Amino acid sequence: MSDTIAAVATGGGVSAVGIVRMSGDTALTVADSVFCTANGVRMKDAECRRMYYGEFIAQGDGSLVLFPYENHTREPSPCVIDLCLCMISKAPNSYTGEDTVEFHCHGSPVVLSEVLRVLFSHGVRQALPGEFTKRAFLNGRMDLTQAEAVIDLIEAETPAAAQNAAGQLSGSVSVKLEPIYNRLIDIIAHFHAVIDYPDEDIDEFKLQNYLSELRDVENELNKLLETHKRGKILRDGIPTAIIGRPNTGKSSLLNALLGYERAIVTDIAGTTRDTIEEKVIIGKILLRLIDTAGLRKTNDIIENAGVERTLAAIEQAGLVLAVLDGSQPLTNDDFDILHSIPPDVPKIAVVNKSDLPAMLDVSELDVFDILYCSISALSGEGLDTLDAEIQKMFPNGRTGGRFMCSTSNGGGRTHEPSPCSTPVLITNARQAEALSRAILCIHDAVEALTAAVTPDAVLTDIEAALGAIGEITGKTMREEMISRIFERFCVGK
Ligand code: GDP
Repeated sequence: MSDTIAAVATGGGVSAVGIVRMSGDTALTVADSVFCTANGVRMKDAECRRMYYGEFIAQGDGSLVLFPYENHTREPSPCVIDLCLCMISKAPNSYTGEDTVEFHCHGSPVVLSEVLRVLFSHGVRQALPGEFTKRAFLNGRMDLTQAEAVIDLIEAETPAAAQNAAGQLSGSVSVKLEPIYNRLIDIIAHFHAVIDYPDEDIDEFKLQNYLSELRDVENELNKLLETHKRGKILRDGIPTAIIGRPNTGKSSLLNALLGYERAIVTDIAGTTRDTIEEKVIIGKILLRLIDTAGLRKTNDIIENAGVERTLAAIEQAGLVLAVLDGSQPLTNDDFDILHSIPPDVPKIAVVNKSDLPAMLDVSELDVFDILYCSISALSGEGLDTLDAEIQKMFPNGRTGGRFMCSTSNGGGRTHEPSPCSTPVLITNARQAEALSRAILCIHDAVEALTAAVTPDAVLTDIEAALGAIGEITGKTMREEMISRIFERFCVGK
């Protein structure tokens, strides 16, 4: 038995269509009390996943009224809240695994809240955030990785992130984990069979036989965990450090890329003493722009603290935009800054202030093996080329990792993009943490095995690894953990 829940499933505000979703044991009965189809069909007898046109009415006496809409002679009854569409899905073949009903109404917030009010008057209650998906998980319609992919898909900011979330929604993470889980189960099952049925003719249990198996499992899990770095970038954007001397135009570049004044622009050197972060989509790429404090040798303690953060931002960057003032010759500080970028980080020298007379000799940049783009953050000139260069570095919107990018120098030096496949990427920190624990446990099991510790100890480690893997898919999860996961969802999903 499950109580019946309802919520508006579409976004807030006015829209053409708004959907109210209802799920639970009484969903079909309630639907027949509040919705009268134009063709007289009761919703409990309706064809699943077919839209029925009719009236959503406020009175809840369950009486069935037939409306001759065809000849348009009848005035709508006074208690009609909306003329809308209704669709049902019957348990267990629905999103939640329960009887569900959707009302596709006119997308007015007033209509939708009235529809909800009427449903609540029939004993239905407001759904909590993520409760529909939580029910889908609890009713076995999807595992936890798929449920988490639902929220990732809804929140995806780029096509690539959506594509990865869609893959996870179809079970790509579980498909990877299932064979590993089963291999570990086999080892444990064999062990218990020998212990529990000593008289049976079961192969003698030799843990040593499983050493290579466990190493293999550890390797597989490690490979999966390694994808988390890229997965995080895919979801949260490429950390892009905008660095340079004070006053070269870093904040102006951030504002120009964002298209609005986010950072304060002044000609007083050292204004930006902290890092400012904003996301921007360039083509299909999501960049997490980090405007940093200007780098220069200074005795100012606060400015120096900002410089420390800048260096940390460079360290973690997936892309560095080194801003140079094109109206001045390169300075020693500029050279130091360009040298501070690790060689394996994709980088572009953004030669700013192209609206002023050029004083910077770009041939001096050759020693840094860096491509450059000439722009004016003030007028916007050259920003298109910068956008294009960034997109070339991360083909198809994919961030193939910090070291996988192509670079080209405005028609000069060009490298072909590295071939990109679409592997499963772990985007979720919870899953990555559980994977790390599983790897540690398997590692401990391997060590114990090589040190010839008793089988029980080894198996305890394997069981702990199984528990951690089970947490990822939801096989082994505590109720409060599950509640915490679904709290991230929006209401109506
Ligand atoms: P930051 O210290 O590197 O963040 O530099 P700001 O963005 O604060 O800019 C410093 C000064 O340079 C300000 O007076 C800006 O108006 C000016 N500036 C920035 N970009 C350009 C540009 O493309 N052309 C010109 N002429 N001035 C610019």
